[in-house]
This record gives sequence, structure tokens and C-alpha cells, in this order.
Amino acid sequence: MSASQRMEKIVNELIKEYPDTKPSLDFNNPFELLVATILSAQTTDKAVNLVLPALFAKYPDAISMSEATADEIKPYIKTLGLYNNKAKSLERMAKSLTENFNGEVPSTMKELISLAGVGRKTANVVMGNAFGIPDSGITVDTHVTRLAIRWGFVNTKNAIKIERELMKIVPKDHWVKFTTLVIDHGRAICKRKPLCDRCVLKELCPSSDNIIAISN
Ligand code: SF4
Repeated sequence: MSASQRMEKIVNELIKEYPDTKPSLDFNNPFELLVATILSAQTTDKAVNLVLPALFAKYPDAISMSEATADEIKPYIKTLGLYNNKAKSLERMAKSLTENFNGEVPSTMKELISLAGVGRKTANVVMGNAFGIPDSGITVDTHVTRLAIRWGFVNTKNAIKIERELMKIVPKDHWVKFTTLVIDHGRAICKRKPLCDRCVLKELCPSSDNIIAISN
């Protein structure tokens, strides 16, 4: 079986297992998803979701956030790791959105990564989940990294290299959904200590025997 065929089977199994998969960050529009994704770096989505209602009540859009200083934003996100840097990123991101894009979140990779605090990973999340752009790329987080290694498709933790390899073998119409499916499986079954006995991918996974917990 080729890597593409095996991956297609894996994706189909995951779709059956997690039919309602979706991003776990709460958002109602592209701006909210952009902010939530910036805040989610090295923090759980659950912790981010807890701060979002008060943050968006105070700063519902790019214009209102662009008028705030990082020091004014900090109290709303101070329960999150790296909140000092994140507050600065939000201030700068909102200012550049207002100055360069009339306060509207752009939908292309080039424009998104021109914003402060926005890298390729964040841009992929926003393009795929806020704009439904199917070929925006594949978001690589800690779960995607761990499972792609366990599945034997990559042998690196470099997110750009992993994304490049996955884009060759994941069916394009599943690129957006792929990340949330893998996150669901990484949280439920293929954890640091994987529950291989309960895994629907056992027959498709070279790590189902002799698993070594990967520190990621
Ligand atoms: S068989 Fe084990 S290592 Fe492979 S995907 Fe399932 S839980 Fe993860």
C-alpha cells in the first residue's frame, strides 16, 4: 500500500470516529478566530476559551483593539502563558489590520503572515476554518507532529517539513478537517501514552506495537 493510500484509509477511519470534528477554539468571525489562535500558542484551547468572552466584550473588532495598548489588553489575558508577548502581538496585529486592511481580516497567506504575531500555522487555521479555503495548507501542531511520526510518514518535528510531506499524501479536500481529526484522535486515543488496544488505526499504524511515547 502506498503512503497516499494508507493516509486516505487513516483519514476515512478518523472521519468515521469523529464525524463532528471542529476547532475547539470558540469564535464567531475571522477576527475572533485570529485573536483566539494567536492566544492559543503554548496554552490549551480550553484556557483561551475562558478569556475570550470578556476580551471580545471589551474589544469586539480590530478597530477597538487597535485603540488599546498592550498594557490595557493584558488584564483580559493574564491567565494565559506568555500573556505579555501575546498582548503586544494583539496590539500590533490589530493596528496593522486597521491601517492596512480597513480592520478586515484578509484571507490570503501572504496578507495574513504580514500581520504581527501571525505565522504560517495561524494563517492556515484562519484560512481553513474562518474562510473555508480548502487548499490553504495543513496546520501542524503538537498532535499532528506526534501522530505523523508514529504513523511513519515523517521523521522530523520541523512543522514546515511535516506540512510539506502531509500535503503530498492527504487528500486535498480533507486538508482543513485533517488537523482537527488528528487533534481529536491525539486527545482521545493516541496520547503521549497511546491506547493502541482501543485504536481504530491499529492495522494501519506501524507504531501499534513497541510504541515509545514521544515527548511531544
Ligand atoms: S495504533 Fe497506537 S500509535 Fe498508532 S495511531 Fe493508534 S494509538 Fe496511536
